[in-house]
Amino acid sequence: PTLRPEPLPDERDGADRALRPQSLDAFIGQAEARANLRVFVESARRRGEAMDHVLFHGPPGLGKTTLAQIMARELGVNFRMTSGPVLAKAGDLAALLTNLEARDVLFIDEIHRLNPVVEEVLYPALEDFELDLVIGEGPAARTVRIELQPFTLVGATTRLGLLTTPLRDRFGIPVRLQFYSAEELEQIVARGARMLDVPAEPSGIAEIARRARGTPRIAGRLLRRVVDFALVEGDGTITRAVADGALTRLGVDRAGLDGGDRRYLSLLADNYGGGPVGIETISAALSEARDAVEEVIEPYLLQQGFLQRTPRGRMLARKAWAHLGLEPPRAPGG
Ligand code: ADP
Repeated sequence: PTLRPEPLPDERDGADRALRPQSLDAFIGQAEARANLRVFVESARRRGEAMDHVLFHGPPGLGKTTLAQIMARELGVNFRMTSGPVLAKAGDLAALLTNLEARDVLFIDEIHRLNPVVEEVLYPALEDFELDLVIGEGPAARTVRIELQPFTLVGATTRLGLLTTPLRDRFGIPVRLQFYSAEELEQIVARGARMLDVPAEPSGIAEIARRARGTPRIAGRLLRRVVDFALVEGDGTITRAVADGALTRLGVDRAGLDGGDRRYLSLLADNYGGGPVGIETISAALSEARDAVEEVIEPYLLQQGFLQRTPRGRMLARKAWAHLGLEPPRAPGG
């Protein structure tokens, strides 16, 4: 699981943060999202108002948190961060909201996992910058209304479909993040190597980028491992041969697929003739949570054309059979 795009503990604490771009200009890729955000940030600044609420959605590791931090910096306001599962009680949210200064950015990661009670409290806060809190219990209970400073909520989710409609409707600016192209990842890896002060040949950079599953977080992680191999087993330079050797030993194949990806593809090929197979069957057979399969494994396989989603279930595409070195079964009558 070291190749999963979720952050590892050491990345939360620093390794990731060091490589994080600090401005919209330094942020590579996501051209369309970036161009739009630039307009909305500039407009909010000129009006001197809080920017409208933003919802980032897309697979893990594509830069949702990074963009939220950049927005706060470019707006010139404070950045506060929490996540859906952490906000257990309405009081937790109230404490955060009442401490915000005017136009601050509040970032809620995994916003699809908000407790429904907390979500109810959030609605009037988003719409009218007001909190309705119930104080006390039983017959003595009363509601107090608290005025909040205008603020910008930035929500992030890997699963847009799990957001309730009323919550989704309260975001004026929904932004979908895409997997990165090989060229964009090359720029990101090259920048990372410069920041780590490690010499790198362009072909070595390209090899890491090509095998990073379209994901900057994975690119950063692979880069750090290749640097380890380059230092200990090479002369310290990232070459194509060092990168190839390191990535292969880490279980990342030539197409950039990891062990989890190959297990998924092999299951469909070996046990189900390529499908169609339902998601519940697949997650049970892989002993993986359905969420993890749908959020982490499938998006990249779909985007790369290894997999197709049909109304009857998932099906291996021709490219997957070729990658596994197997012949697809003949269509009946074909
Ligand atoms: P998410 O919130 O979508 O899971 P993050 O914003 O935490 O993703 O990004 C993961 C890591 O990838 C960041 O720490 C950063 O180092 C790197 N990263 C993300 N997007 C970019 C980018 N466009 N350019 C350079 N590095 C990036």
